[in-house]
Amino acid sequence: MTTKLIVSLFFLILSGPIFLFSQKSKNIPPEKPKLIVGIVVDQMRYDYITRYYDKFEINGFKRFINEGTSCRSTYLNYMYTQTGPGHATIFTGATPSVHGIVTNEWYIPLKKQKVYCVDDSKIATVGSSSNNGKFSPVNLITPTFGDQLRLHFLFKSKVIAISLKDRAAILSGGKSANAAFWYDDATGNFITSSYYMNQLPQWLQDFNSKKLAETYLNRLWTPLLSIQEYTESLRDSNKYETGFGKNQFVFPYDLKFISTKNKKEIDYGVLKYTPFGNTILNDLAKAVILNEDLGKDNITDFLVISFSATDYIGHRFGPRSIEVEDTYLRLDKEIAHLLDFIENEIGKENVLIFLTSDHGVSDHPLFLNDQKMGGGVFNPYLALSLLRTYLNALYGEGDWVLGYANLQFFLNRNLIEDAKLSLKEVQERVATFLMQFNGVNHAVTAYSLQYNNFTDGLLSFMQNSFHPKRSGDVLVVLEPGWVEDSSYMYDHNTCYSYDTHVPLMFYGWRIPRMTIHRKINITDIVPTLSAFLQIEVPMGCNGVPIQELLGN
Ligand code: ZN
Ligand code: ZN
Repeated sequence: MTTKLIVSLFFLILSGPIFLFSQKSKNIPPEKPKLIVGIVVDQMRYDYITRYYDKFEINGFKRFINEGTSCRSTYLNYMYTQTGPGHATIFTGATPSVHGIVTNEWYIPLKKQKVYCVDDSKIATVGSSSNNGKFSPVNLITPTFGDQLRLHFLFKSKVIAISLKDRAAILSGGKSANAAFWYDDATGNFITSSYYMNQLPQWLQDFNSKKLAETYLNRLWTPLLSIQEYTESLRDSNKYETGFGKNQFVFPYDLKFISTKNKKEIDYGVLKYTPFGNTILNDLAKAVILNEDLGKDNITDFLVISFSATDYIGHRFGPRSIEVEDTYLRLDKEIAHLLDFIENEIGKENVLIFLTSDHGVSDHPLFLNDQKMGGGVFNPYLALSLLRTYLNALYGEGDWVLGYANLQFFLNRNLIEDAKLSLKEVQERVATFLMQFNGVNHAVTAYSLQYNNFTDGLLSFMQNSFHPKRSGDVLVVLEPGWVEDSSYMYDHNTCYSYDTHVPLMFYGWRIPRMTIHRKINITDIVPTLSAFLQIEVPMGCNGVPIQELLGN
């Protein structure tokens, strides 16, 4: 007997009883999971997993990697990477060109006004006297996975989506969701709209009466670790942070002071800009699971939990800040608690959990410049004003441009028609004009996207973002590292990797321990879930299932 063989036999004997025990204690997963939980972490770049890896605990994000499947090269496959399009795309499995949520807001030329992606004036707020609930999925053109699940099981599946953000909850749940709940800045309560129900369920009224927002806003936000330990981030005091305003960009943050300064009333909106915005959503998630009996029968239920504090904090402090790192270390613990809770309540074998993000975020252009890495700030309103002057000189005085939203210029089509000008030609003139601005990589006309089908390269991202009835007349692509001018300089709305490379991890039920390295599109999540359940994909879905997860 060789030494090697003796050693292996020794380990076999040693590990034998443990192996048998773990096999015995494992419950066999059912044919279909009783509950699917989709976790979205708003603005989570893929590289947060690798950069903060050594500081994460064993049972949070790492649980997905060590016990589940991690798809390391998952990308958003369209141009305008914002929260509305992100959630709509993850949950319909369709690109914005099909589901119609092209950006967070767009311009309606006929009404000469902007529309927010979940605006619905016919709808009333439920749970508050504020206007923060007048929203519904009315603008979402195609159904979500949750809708398809409900249709398949003839509406016996329960589908609920929660988030601090209205659009994140509404667009994840879909059209026939039982409920979507989001945070009301005016009261610190979770609310909904009359689209879903006429009264908050009693358990949510009880939850709101605990006034958790107030409790969390009485806290001091101090870093979890000593400040020297955040070696993955820039120093706490640096010139690239907006923070909570003047002199409010270093630890500790006195949230009571920040949320009450200058007024007697509490500014509940402040909670969204702190890690405790994730904590309150986690509290709500547990309350939903307990009170709505999710995962308690054999008809699959679906819960979406979209954590938004990461996005609010990210815009103010950026991806190299201690504040963002601290937020992720805290979220890691929240997720560990949440998974423990779900496993205790429903059983790991009965629940399929996936985690992904709606988009990433850029570095600060000034920071990139300081490191000689390019980047800059594009001022759309300066471009708009010069464009108006140019068109007046070219075609005579007139209101040629109706508006601007999210890197898209909307022309006055009626005026162009009345003047007997060719819309195609005017669009081309505008595109050529806009191409002269610093930071503009490309300006594409609606005409070219309407009558072509770009399937490769940068224009394919644009094609996937383009909806002929909602997109602008001329659509701008910024150079890598460039952002639109705004109150914060950390942003996302491009097709570059910092905005499009996101985590995608599956865990629980029959999910094997596996790493997938090949490129996967964000639209592939829904077809994969549908294949797991052997149900039809929602209409409009244009992704493909992740073969590696489906076995033979
Ligand atoms: Zn977002
Ligand atoms: Zn954002």
